Amino acid sequence: MATVITDECINCAACEPECPNTAIYEGGVEYQHEGSAHQALSEDFFYIIPDRCSECVGFFDEEACAVVCPVDCCIPDPDRPETEVQLIERARVLHPDENFGDSFPSRFSDDAGGADAGEPAAEAGSTATESAAPASPVPAPASPVPAPATPAPAAAVTEPVVEASSVLDFPVPVLCRSCEGEYEVDFRFLTPGTVLRCPLCQASFSPGQRVFLEISRSLDRYADLMNAEVDRHESAVKGEGESHEANIADLKKASADELRRIVESLLERPRRSMFG
Ligand code: SF4
Ligand code: SF4
Repeated sequence: MATVITDECINCAACEPECPNTAIYEGGVEYQHEGSAHQALSEDFFYIIPDRCSECVGFFDEEACAVVCPVDCCIPDPDRPETEVQLIERARVLHPDENFGDSFPSRFSDDAGGADAGEPAAEAGSTATESAAPASPVPAPASPVPAPATPAPAAAVTEPVVEASSVLDFPVPVLCRSCEGEYEVDFRFLTPGTVLRCPLCQASFSPGQRVFLEISRSLDRYADLMNAEVDRHESAVKGEGESHEANIADLKKASADELRRIVESLLERPRRSMFG
């Protein structure tokens, strides 16, 4: 069965960039399928085009939209029972250049805890995602906050001077899709599924897994560069204080610029197919 979005949707947009099939559209926005534009299936909420949804079969072990949805409103559509065979065939049609082979990620696989291949998916309410506790819709970080992958120091290497806490506090620029204003959110609050609100227009935004991972990787690079800069400074002769301060400021600005480019490109992503 294709996945469907219920009217509990809060229009946070977290699911849209996660879909490998470009099956999710914002309410009121016409969708593209088989080379032509079609009228939106919902005017008020994000919606899924059934003919483009493979329940993520071929890509993930569970439905990516359901994983990031903060209010658990991406559910199996009980009116469209479909088998894994039907769903992987849909993925193959949508991605003719992809070679899925005979072994591919699937919510039906044993590892994913799904139903047997060839059997229709279980009734709504039986997926792992749905049985999980609903994420808090308040603008607070999910608990626990996943720490970015800061490289562990080798025993003989100088301890990192940029602590994980300072990376978690790094202000990440966020571009509001509604008012196009920019505001900053500490990295610690960008955990996937957390619902944030634009301080300018109150529009909601919820970062997805890809946003979190790409920003996390960028901040890892920033931490590496900052550690190298501090090492260089400590080994340099005194009197280079001004150069050090300038280099620190340059690194911070370069990191903020890179994060801004990442956020911009990710917000544009839903308008394009991830496979071009
Ligand atoms: S289940 Fe997967 S393919 Fe279907 S709409 Fe959600 S993210 Fe897209
Ligand atoms: S993640 Fe859930 S609440 Fe947010 S837009 Fe998608 S369906 Fe709606």
